[in-house]
Amino acid sequence: MEYVTKLENQPEALIIGSGFGGIATGIRLQARGYKTTIFEKLDQPGGRASVFKQDGFTFDAGPTIVTAPFLLEELWELCGRKFSDSVTLKEMNPFYRIRFDTGEFFDYTGDPGKMRDQIRKFSPNEVHKYDEFMERAELCYRLGYEDLGNLPYNSLSDLLKSIPSMIRMGAWQSIYKLVSKYFKNEQLRQVFSFHPLLIGGDPSAVTCVYSLIAALERRYGVHSAMGGTGAIISAMVDLYEDIGGTIIYDAEVTKIDVQNRCAKGLYLRSGEYFQSNVIVSNGDTAWTYTHLLDEGYRKKWNDKKIKSSSFSMSLFVWYFGTSKVFDDVQHHTILLGKSYLPLLHDIFREKKLSADFSLYLHRPTATDKGMAPPNHDTFYVLSPVPNLLGNVDWDKEKESYRKKIEKYLDKTILPGLTKSIVSSKVFTPNDFEQRYLAFNGAAFGMEPLLLQSAWFRPHNKSEDIKGLYMVGASTHPGAGIPGVLTSAKLLDKVIPESYSSSKFANKKTGERAYGSV
Ligand SMILES: Cc1cc2nc3c(=O)[nH]c(=O)nc-3n(C[C@H](O)[C@H](O)[C@H](O)COP(=O)(O)OP(=O)(O)OC[C@H]3O[C@@H](n4cnc5c(N)ncnc54)[C@H](O)[C@@H]3O)c2cc1C
Repeated sequence: MEYVTKLENQPEALIIGSGFGGIATGIRLQARGYKTTIFEKLDQPGGRASVFKQDGFTFDAGPTIVTAPFLLEELWELCGRKFSDSVTLKEMNPFYRIRFDTGEFFDYTGDPGKMRDQIRKFSPNEVHKYDEFMERAELCYRLGYEDLGNLPYNSLSDLLKSIPSMIRMGAWQSIYKLVSKYFKNEQLRQVFSFHPLLIGGDPSAVTCVYSLIAALERRYGVHSAMGGTGAIISAMVDLYEDIGGTIIYDAEVTKIDVQNRCAKGLYLRSGEYFQSNVIVSNGDTAWTYTHLLDEGYRKKWNDKKIKSSSFSMSLFVWYFGTSKVFDDVQHHTILLGKSYLPLLHDIFREKKLSADFSLYLHRPTATDKGMAPPNHDTFYVLSPVPNLLGNVDWDKEKESYRKKIEKYLDKTILPGLTKSIVSSKVFTPNDFEQRYLAFNGAAFGMEPLLLQSAWFRPHNKSEDIKGLYMVGASTHPGAGIPGVLTSAKLLDKVIPESYSSSKFANKKTGERAYGSV
């Protein structure tokens, strides 16, 4: 039996949005003694990690590749519980199959021996380069993730502290450039540089610090959750509500009330007002600043600064279910198109729909048959496309683009696809803007360029408004489940201690901050 009470003088925090970042913040603040409420625009939690159920198929809307499971485990530990009692993760082997347009493929794993075998297939003379590259990726993991990723960049001293590490990592060069120093073979260059695309970055422009992802994956593996990523979100919500948190759905926040440059409360679209001196936005930071706060309050993140920022790509996502089972297809497949750098240029710089495309194909039924009706398969395929600053008319292009992808998959790894489609749903950059309030329809917030990262990214503790905090993909450290969970963790360093810093009780009175658990 649960009961939720707000203790006398218990500090309160209001959280806008229930993505990974919003719920993780709720759990952390509850564990620190705050009473929190999450306001979610949608009718379900998870944001980009929400779930579409259609025709008996379960489609994870967004994230599917789960890395750094220790960040999830930590949330449960904070509440005296075990993550593995709530969610079953399966380690992927291979992590991904990377398929080239030529039909050749590279099975990417965390096993050095198998990786060397795969490299040998493409360029026997470069096998020894794997260890050299991974040594560099490890350096970036230690300096870029463990050290700098855990700084809140709340003061200039954090920036100054990071300069020597930035120099050691050669952070000014792009990941494609760094990888090219190790590998001469173009296919291998693509295999070892594509990772930033998973978090909205252009491998030819984002800092090589992101090679840390290769090290992170090798250390902790790549996983999928049984029941899909939606099962993680629903377990996080259960945990959050169990320790006294409240989520209100269909509750879009339309304004943050500010008095004397201090956050005082928020207004919902319904007109209701909620008061608090601590407000955390898990919404897109650019959207939060431009739509929820008057410009008069914004010295740093004013309209001019936001307009001149560069935004990540968007995504075209097609969710589909088939009456045929494609047993040969891995859980995660990356299908690289004919061109690599020119395609990236079209998406990120020209912002035009290229004739070519690269795809990520998700087949959760490879791991969990329960994601589809019996003898059926569940898929989604995504294609990185320009954000809404380009002038693609998605209402017009939507069906022809989908058909082009369908034809390509039918011709390559899903023969017989066209005849077996029994469920279909398309999501375009317009949907990113309308469903998630993503500024410019960008799927991952601001582009993670060096000068839009760390100190230069919108801070977790608002530079403009006292008592306002940011969590999620568009603040520091950045997008992807690990980045977003780390941003929630960083809030522990910038949101003041509540009177009770104990996980479970008010230190003075011993009174619990929430009911029986
Ligand atoms: C298709 C796709 C695939 C991806 N694949 C991976 C992957 O495999 N692995 C990985 O690690 N990452 C992946 N990512 C990235 C990852 O999903 C995101 O970075 C992460 O889920 C974002 O979490 P977040 O906490 O920032 O919030 P979001 O998921 O963006 O959630 C924010 C929430 O706030 C709500 N909200 C916004 N404004 C308001 C408002 N004004 N009032 C009330 N509510 C509001 C929104 O409705 C939403 O629910 C993928 C992303 C996409 C789109």
